[in-house]
Amino acid sequence: MAQQQAGDGGTTPVAVVTGANRGIGHEVVRQLADRGHRVVLGSRDLAKGEAAAARIDPGGGRVTPVRLDIADPASVDTLGTWVAERFGRADVLVNNAAILYDTWARAVTADLAEVRRALDTNLFGAWRVTQALLPLLERSPRARIVNVSSEGGSLASMSGGIPAYAVSKASLNALTRLLAGELRGRGVLVNAVCPGWVATDMGGAGGRPVAEGAAGVVWAATLPDDGPSGGFFRDGRPVPW
Ligand code: NAP
Repeated sequence: MAQQQAGDGGTTPVAVVTGANRGIGHEVVRQLADRGHRVVLGSRDLAKGEAAAARIDPGGGRVTPVRLDIADPASVDTLGTWVAERFGRADVLVNNAAILYDTWARAVTADLAEVRRALDTNLFGAWRVTQALLPLLERSPRARIVNVSSEGGSLASMSGGIPAYAVSKASLNALTRLLAGELRGRGVLVNAVCPGWVATDMGGAGGRPVAEGAAGVVWAATLPDDGPSGGFFRDGRPVPW
């Protein structure tokens, strides 16, 4: 299969964004495309992904939709192979997809099957996509991994409530530290980013505009080579773990 298909000789950086058919992920795709990336728009429903890509890039040269269910190992394996064949490179990974903001639940009575479901997407989903793309990311001259987290996963401010979501995001933060440490010195910067309270389907009405929340994610996805790794940020500023 022809690689890149953009007539650029394969020099344009390629970014992969999960859960990008709506919400913050969709806006991250828009902002990365505006900054000159070729962006792979992951969506577990391909038709929704195609519609979402067309809203940003009607011509189809900058944003490529792909079916991706991060909770399904086979789907993630297929992604790794497909990105390698189609683009021959991956420079940015934004682990954005997440579920189960369980504001109704309490740790003392939590349904552990629900907690497991949250972990399978919010932690293991991000982990398996990272593993699938790492061979390509490690070949990039400027690889960046952004784990879209939440202050709800901050141990420093945790005091009860949203148990499945909070534990999954705290775990994602731990994964961020591990990956950053193991990839230090190999040019791969790995950070966790809280977008703040954003008015999406998950965040609900009253939150900040999606473009503002996405901007902090894009900041971490486009850090210079001497940028931080292993940190937790909102709007480019550190957040307590
Ligand atoms: P959202 O509007 O609910 O969108 C979530 C996206 O993730 C959707 O595209 C959804 O796809 C996708 N997704 C869920 N499970 C998936 C799976 N197994 N495989 C692939 N895609 C999957 O959420 P959002 O507000 O944009 O949140 C984006 C990120 O920001 C999340 O990590 C969230 O935890 C974080 N965050 C959000 C807020 C906030 O206030 N909104 C605050 C802090 C952190 P479908 O359309 O198929 O369901």
